[in-house]
Amino acid sequence: MAYVVPPLPYDYNALEPHIDEQTMRIHHDKHHQAYVDKVNAALEGTEWADRPIEEVLTSLERIPEDKRTAVRNNGGGHYNHTLFWESMSPDGGGAPEGDLAAAIDAAFGSFADFQAKLKDAGVNQFGSGWAWLVLDGGALAVVSTPNQDNPISAGMTPLLGVDVWEHAYYLTYQNRRPDYIDAWWATVDWSRVADRFAAE
Ligand code: MN
Repeated sequence: MAYVVPPLPYDYNALEPHIDEQTMRIHHDKHHQAYVDKVNAALEGTEWADRPIEEVLTSLERIPEDKRTAVRNNGGGHYNHTLFWESMSPDGGGAPEGDLAAAIDAAFGSFADFQAKLKDAGVNQFGSGWAWLVLDGGALAVVSTPNQDNPISAGMTPLLGVDVWEHAYYLTYQNRRPDYIDAWWATVDWSRVADRFAAE
């Protein structure tokens, strides 16, 4: 079955004032839909068309060469945005608790140090891309990826990602990517991040 854009798990305006309704509508209904349409078109008629997106993205070297770039970009876009929507909530914000909080403190010094590191990764990602909290070989790390590249293609497990493409913030924040990232923290659903951490 072809991929589909999952419905947002909250209303389009639910993340205001941090992320505005129009941005959410365009981002989810237009940008994410376009990634899904294009990866479906690229995989149509191939043996990969019915495979989970995670399997496709961890097998890019086996995708037919003439389709590989389209699958990398648009399949990555589908995977990344699905995780992004699920990582936010109108009840988000605050700080992680429990084992995840302890692991963040151990890896980065403190939650504030982790926040500074992820923001730095997002601000300094030149052009379009993402900043991530990942598990890399069992250890927490902050990484960034260009375009729609994603941690799973590099053998890492994403726990949380922030989209730093201009389409994610420009209507409200214009060129002020640091301000967008500062505001985005108030949307993070740490219970979902903790679930991903606990599953590893
Ligand atoms: Mn995006």
